[in-house]
Amino acid sequence: MGMYFIFVTGTAGSGKTTLTASLIDFLTQAGMDVAAANLDPAVERLPYVPDFDVRQYVDAGEIMRKYGLGPNSSLVAATDMALTKATEIREEMDKLRANYVIVDTPGQIELFAYRNSGRMLLTLLSEDSKSVNLFLLDSFLTKEPRSYLSLLLLSSSVKFRLNLPQVNLLSKVDLLTPQELEKITAWSEGEELIDALGIVDDNSYELASSVIQYASSPPTPVSAIEGKGLGKFTLKFREFSQAERTTTPRN
Ligand code: GDP
Ligand code: MG
Repeated sequence: MGMYFIFVTGTAGSGKTTLTASLIDFLTQAGMDVAAANLDPAVERLPYVPDFDVRQYVDAGEIMRKYGLGPNSSLVAATDMALTKATEIREEMDKLRANYVIVDTPGQIELFAYRNSGRMLLTLLSEDSKSVNLFLLDSFLTKEPRSYLSLLLLSSSVKFRLNLPQVNLLSKVDLLTPQELEKITAWSEGEELIDALGIVDDNSYELASSVIQYASSPPTPVSAIEGKGLGKFTLKFREFSQAERTTTPRN
């Protein structure tokens, strides 16, 4: 049976690492074999034990010192450097045995929105396996209509750049009041967001409409801390793995 890769992307602090830990628990409790990969070279403490850790291959602090780069550039450079260790990384990934591999990524979103290196690293890990990208929209950044639309635009860039099936998640919903969640949910349908934006010119209207349409479905509300909302989108993953299982030849 093939492994299924779940990439977790989103802006810095949107909850990727916390969600990775919750997903590991959630899927493990559902009886799945789950492996985890950490692609953030700068993370200091992880709330889960990674089976693959990019920090074994690159040292962001050393890159900063050696090349005189700032923290952001050194993290972008770290991904390029990890790609030069492709053979070792592949060998390590080939040893993994799991139904699901959850991949926690760094918050340098330009890696996945604009650069090819992010996509190359994800492809190096997953090779021919099926995969999905979870894009986290931080609840805190979605309270204001313009910020919400900008975040949807970013999620569209990531979807377009990675060219993978993508599920948008509204993260940390436990921080929203019921009224705020209701308002944001209504925005996801489209019309109400356009109204809330108070758009006056045609071009912005076209852009907003297209972005809402490209996102295709409203983000699924989740709380990694309260473990809420995980069942809804992980259902798809389980269906997928069942389908794989029945097509495995038995002899
Ligand atoms: P990352 O940078 O995207 O990996 O984000 P982290 O997982 O490190 O989380 C950033 C901050 O948001 C931390 O302080 C987390 O405790 C907090 N956080 C993450 N998920 C949730 C959540 O579901 N609810 C709440 N209230 N806080 C969260
Ligand atoms: Mg993180």
